[in-house]
Amino acid sequence: MNKDLNHYKNLLIKEKDLIVSELSDLAQNKGGDAWEASAVDPVDTADREDVALNIEGYQEKDEVVRVLETQLSEVEHALSKIDSGTYGICEVSGEEIEEDRLEANPSARTCKSHINEWLQA
Ligand SMILES: [Zn+2]
Repeated sequence: MNKDLNHYKNLLIKEKDLIVSELSDLAQNKGGDAWEASAVDPVDTADREDVALNIEGYQEKDEVVRVLETQLSEVEHALSKIDSGTYGICEVSGEEIEEDRLEANPSARTCKSHINEWLQA
């Protein structure tokens, strides 16, 4: 295996910084990898529709936070694979993951032929 691990490590660290800064805008860190969406600014009226909008706004924010959290844990997972020397190995077949796939998604867990198998797992 002659992949440039430092290159991918840099990509992953950049991605991690980006995700963490997006999370910090939307949520509060609850320790470790746990984030909780911060409250939506309340609309300045007691109108029932506005209250409903606030709840909806919070739920949407919360969904974005969950997606970012998942992305963050994928990046952390990939970084730990670099440390343990298993980075770039397909988790389904144990083959090497194509470089262009890693370039497009440095935290990819599988080679191109096993993308769907991973998603269904
Ligand atoms: Zn594979």
